[in-house]
Amino acid sequence: MRRRLSIGVQWTLRYTLALLVTVSIFAVFTYTEIAHRTLHDAELVLDLQVSEAVEALRAAGGRVAQVRDTVERSVSSADDDLKLGLALYDEAGQRLFAEGSLQRFPTPLPESLLAATEGERTVVHELDVGEKYSFLVMARPAVGGFVQGALYTRRFVRNARDVRDIYLYSMPVLLLLTAGLGWMLARGSLRPLQEMNRTARRISGTHLDERIPTTGSGDELDELAGTLNEMFGRIERGVERMRRFSGNAAHELRTPLNALRSRLEVTLEQPRDPEEMRKALAETASEVEGLSQLVHSMMRLAQSEAGLAPEQRTPVDLSVLLAEVTDFFAPLAEDGEVALAPRLEPEVLVPGDPTWLHELFANLLDNAIKYTPPGGRVEVELSRDGGSAVAQVRDTGVGIDERDLPHIFQPFHRAGNRSEVPGVGLGLPIAREIARAHGGDLQVESTPGRGSCFRVRLPLQGPAAARSRAAG
Ligand code: ADP
Repeated sequence: MRRRLSIGVQWTLRYTLALLVTVSIFAVFTYTEIAHRTLHDAELVLDLQVSEAVEALRAAGGRVAQVRDTVERSVSSADDDLKLGLALYDEAGQRLFAEGSLQRFPTPLPESLLAATEGERTVVHELDVGEKYSFLVMARPAVGGFVQGALYTRRFVRNARDVRDIYLYSMPVLLLLTAGLGWMLARGSLRPLQEMNRTARRISGTHLDERIPTTGSGDELDELAGTLNEMFGRIERGVERMRRFSGNAAHELRTPLNALRSRLEVTLEQPRDPEEMRKALAETASEVEGLSQLVHSMMRLAQSEAGLAPEQRTPVDLSVLLAEVTDFFAPLAEDGEVALAPRLEPEVLVPGDPTWLHELFANLLDNAIKYTPPGGRVEVELSRDGGSAVAQVRDTGVGIDERDLPHIFQPFHRAGNRSEVPGVGLGLPIAREIARAHGGDLQVESTPGRGSCFRVRLPLQGPAAARSRAAG
């Protein structure tokens, strides 16, 4: 796979490109502005010289011979660099005399000027006499003729070109400097990311407690480090839970499997009559049934932890469902001499999976009857509370010790010494996960020796949900 440029290099290239574009725009702007202004300066200088000659002609009443000295003086006293040239023409446009550069490069008057009168028009144009000599030429009507002036603009143009050259020569240095500084800045900003990367690499199945160091600056990277740390924490807790679960599950499966194997070995050790064989097989079948129940519970726990799929939700009338579950447990309650009293508000609809909800309440009722001694009472109540359905399974049983209370929803946790009561400790975790998968929760209150109350809260079927289902 082609390796992409590192972020540091990408940022450096971007900084440099940004500088290149900005400086280029700035350079083009300053160059044109300076070129424009210096040419304007040249025009002003020339204008001054031409105006002086025009003024001298006016003073001499148009007598050319009288101004010749003045013109000569102007040309000779001008800076050599300017290569000033001045020429006088008669009214017909015939050149009378020329001084300075206009002597070397005679330039005809523009046609448009010949028709003009004094002071009316000034024609400015550039006379290009090869790369080396570039002249600005200005002609203006005067008393008795025309005055023409020329000025070497190279000096003015050179100023602008000097500025352009400074930009051109300093550009590579500027770009190099920006690239270097950009690289340093990018690396500095990326250091926390590299640290995160290193930590994330170190985190593995055996090192889940590693965390990215945070600076406390509260900037975006610090926030990201915090978020990642929270995620690592959740992963760590999740993996820990899975480890505990699989360890417990293996233990729970091993005990009955060992018992099963020993029973089969003992049965097979010596010849048995058909009646003995039948008895042994019946016991084996009941143990296999227990094992399959255990596997079912583990699978249900995994499924409910993964959540409820939207298509699994149908409107379930909890009053009907709870009546069915109560009826189902009535014989067990009777056997245990426990009074079972349902008090159900009718038509309490929740969106959910009827099989899962059935299992939730079956687990609660099973426990309530199991952990209530003969003569006790189990009440099943259903009511509405705001937008929720509240179902309570209350018993007058043995209750749960304060030390056990925080743990009873953990898989395989069995409070106190319950070995005499059948069960593996998956009923409550499954019940709570089912409640949560339905957007609700399961809570418990208990007083040892007096009884427990398990309260399930589930969101009611909303009219919108009911309507959309009806339409669908
Ligand atoms: P199991 O009943 O199979 O042991 P559960 O997950 O259903 O597993 O329950 C976990 C533990 O919580 C039980 O071992 C029991 O100690 C306690 N418990 C649950 N329900 C009740 C109840 N109604 N009264 C007293 N203790 C209960």
